[in-house]
Amino acid sequence: MEQHIIIIAEHDNGKIAPITFELIECAKILQQFTAASIKIFISGHDLSATAHHLAEKSGIDIIVITSSNPREPDETIFKDLPLNLLTDLNPLYICIAQNQKGLDFAPGLAIRLNAACITGVEKIIQRDDGLCFSRSLFNDKITADITSTAGTTILTIQPGIFKPKITNNSRPGTVSTITLPACPQKYHFKRYKKNQSDTSGIVDADVIVSAGNGIGKKENLDLIRRLARLFPKSHVGGSRPVCDKKWLPYNQQIGITGATVRPKLYIACGISGSSQHIAGMRDSKFIVAINKDPHSAIFNFADICIVEDAATFIPLFIDTYQENRFMD
Ligand SMILES: Cc1cc2nc3c(=O)[nH]c(=O)nc-3n(C[C@H](O)[C@H](O)[C@H](O)COP(=O)(O)OP(=O)(O)OC[C@H]3O[C@@H](n4cnc5c(N)ncnc54)[C@H](O)[C@@H]3O)c2cc1C
Repeated sequence: MEQHIIIIAEHDNGKIAPITFELIECAKILQQFTAASIKIFISGHDLSATAHHLAEKSGIDIIVITSSNPREPDETIFKDLPLNLLTDLNPLYICIAQNQKGLDFAPGLAIRLNAACITGVEKIIQRDDGLCFSRSLFNDKITADITSTAGTTILTIQPGIFKPKITNNSRPGTVSTITLPACPQKYHFKRYKKNQSDTSGIVDADVIVSAGNGIGKKENLDLIRRLARLFPKSHVGGSRPVCDKKWLPYNQQIGITGATVRPKLYIACGISGSSQHIAGMRDSKFIVAINKDPHSAIFNFADICIVEDAATFIPLFIDTYQENRFMD
């Protein structure tokens, strides 16, 4: 029986999310090692145009899952999916985004399918005994290689890793729609409300100076701001803990749940370099990292590595810079 690699696509009100194309790229890599066909599942309402667009761009057959209850949110539609819709396709791999939505249903789906679930996949390696999936642990200090012995393996894929390639498809994929009966809900979804987080300033900056947990206290943000002011078209950013502690607003957070930035210069101050942070800044043109731990993962991505206490180094750097500037 033909095996399949299934992609669970994501969209935002019908706009295909970039991670969907990364999942397609990942599935294509998996396909090189298997004889499996690829299918895309997408759930939600009024997705006809979205699905046809995706079928055309990817050349892959799309299955739209919708609900007869027009108020049922996309995520719960997929949670209620009758299992035979998946098992009939004999799924070898199911590729899901490693994000809030994906992690909300991937483990449950693995239990329902009696499948393996490997999360945070960053790399696919071919070994003599089969495919191996790498993910980082402990803020990128350790890499775990994991193989699966299950018939079906669910993979949650780390965003920002599998960069989509532009391909010319000889034919668009087909689109079919399955409408599920409304399920009795244990909770009622009211509405989504977007937070008014405008990341436009940070996304357009030429230079970003970012603060991490390692700056120690909120008052040290002043050093980060002073450092940023040395550069024209600069902006201050931060890692998630810094925003969680309310030292900076969330529209200044860099990473998979924050902004994705590509400045000419990115200066990471007291940032460990977790994969979630790296996903938002890895395409910066030049990266400088200041961290007191010489084994910190951020140094794997930095062009210049400064092993120093940030609170000591930054004021010294600013003073030295200003002294030299006045000497010109
Ligand atoms: C689903 C999910 C989504 C996430 N999304 C994001 C995201 O979008 N963005 C994000 O940033 N994180 C995100 N995270 C959190 C992420 O996993 C890390 O916890 C976070 O990035 C760590 O932030 P940090 O490097 O500032 O702090 P830490 O991990 O605490 O690292 C602090 C670093 O500072 C160094 N340090 C300590 N003192 C000093 C000093 N005096 N001088 C210099 N260096 C010093 C330490 O050596 C260490 O490397 C997410 C996590 C999850 C689970």
